Amino acid sequence: MHKRTIIYRGNLKSCNYSCSYCPFAKHRALPMEMEKDRQSFVRFCDSIEKRAKTFSIGAVFITPYGEVSIHRWYWEGLLRLAEIPEIDRVGMQTNLSFSVEECLKGFDFAHKLCIWATFHPEMTTVDEFVSKCHKLVKNNIKVCTGAVGVPENIQLLRELRKKLSPDIYLWINKMDGLKRNYSPDEIEAFVQLDPFFKYELKNPNAAVQMCADRCFVEADGKIHTCNISRTKDINWYDGSEEDIFEPVCSRKRCTCYLAYGGRADFALRNIFGEYPIYRIPEKFRAIFFDLDGTLIPERRMSTGNQHGRELSVQVREKLAALREVCPIFLATTMPEADVKRRLKADMDLFQGFIFASGGHLCLREENGQKEKVYPIDISGLSEAIEFGESIKAKCAVSMKNGAAYKVTLLKGHHSVWKDTEYDRMVELLKASNCRFYIEGNCLQIVSEGRDKGVGIEEMCDWLGISVGDVLAVGNDKEDAAMERVCGAYLEVQVGISQDSAF
Ligand code: SF4
Repeated sequence: MHKRTIIYRGNLKSCNYSCSYCPFAKHRALPMEMEKDRQSFVRFCDSIEKRAKTFSIGAVFITPYGEVSIHRWYWEGLLRLAEIPEIDRVGMQTNLSFSVEECLKGFDFAHKLCIWATFHPEMTTVDEFVSKCHKLVKNNIKVCTGAVGVPENIQLLRELRKKLSPDIYLWINKMDGLKRNYSPDEIEAFVQLDPFFKYELKNPNAAVQMCADRCFVEADGKIHTCNISRTKDINWYDGSEEDIFEPVCSRKRCTCYLAYGGRADFALRNIFGEYPIYRIPEKFRAIFFDLDGTLIPERRMSTGNQHGRELSVQVREKLAALREVCPIFLATTMPEADVKRRLKADMDLFQGFIFASGGHLCLREENGQKEKVYPIDISGLSEAIEFGESIKAKCAVSMKNGAAYKVTLLKGHHSVWKDTEYDRMVELLKASNCRFYIEGNCLQIVSEGRDKGVGIEEMCDWLGISVGDVLAVGNDKEDAAMERVCGAYLEVQVGISQDSAF
């Protein structure tokens, strides 16, 4: 079981912003209300100090109704919580209106602090918001940013994404009051901004057994399993550990990030790390991208003209920004010559390449490049090639330094490999030193044991980094080998009509 995450929500329903749609904007807290809220929060922090070890609590997250970062006692409390050795992360949701310098005074545990910053376009400018985010990151604070997916704000949110450092994640929450479904274009626009936006539209079925390592606590000690599940009959301050963490829920669906993002089976845990509730992606030391179907539309989907055969302007810009914060690599089934033909000058975006599913590796270094080729014995393939030609499959051999490292038997544009043809190939290639697989209308042959996963392991060895610190981004069966070895894997499918989901 994971270490536990506790979410706390105080009493205050007030805010220093006055966004037109927000109920908390209308209310200013009275001194009495503030004092009551302070006392409740101090009591909560006392309880965490006492119980963090026995309850195995690793993270505390403040998710207020309105804005609480403007109240000093929340910062003092977060500091106390961060000082507890068992606590790995503390954080809060905020509109970012606080003074960074003031609030972090005496806060020596910045590396434990996670800030969930929501952009409010009615109350702040993109430049002001971005500058504050960058100041926090400079102070070693982990930050995620985001906004509600209001269709009218798409242009502004694009500007926000463009100005934010590429290593700061921008999430988009679905808009609850929209009273209609998003159009496909709006969904596409939001996916361009937030590669995980589609999770917001899923509303997975409730599965309360996935919620045994979490608790949502209110100011008076009322508890729920998550922020949207029903109140339990016991109280945080006098309940037993067993009762407090017994998962209880009568919801049919998990309808917001704080709910589904805290589940043990949340699919993006490998991206958001041990405490996904903060919505802050882990830092990766390298990112490997598949090409066909991930960065550009798949060949078999291509219209045959130039459209979709090279990186789109948007993808190029994103990769250029990304490589400023993390080295990027290509891991493709294509041989070097095909990749060069497609990417041309965009080859320079990448620090290294895994070509032909690991049959050929190339790493750019300061003083030249390191390369390795895994040859295949072409003479052992003659019968297979002959058979391929007999069924009108053209044979293409990829060579490097005089050695063949990939053979492709390519059928006509709309032809597929029939089961009987494939079975015959299995027979003919049985004794060869090869691995082969079908990809669209191609039968691909590479050296035995080579795939993108072993290619990444080898590249990481050259780089002196762990595969656990690597993110791979792919879209099809061949990419499962990357998922097998890398610390995190992200599935991204690019269609002919869109630029990129990443
Ligand atoms: S609604 Fe909350 S408690 Fe219920 S299953 Fe979903 S995340 Fe778990």
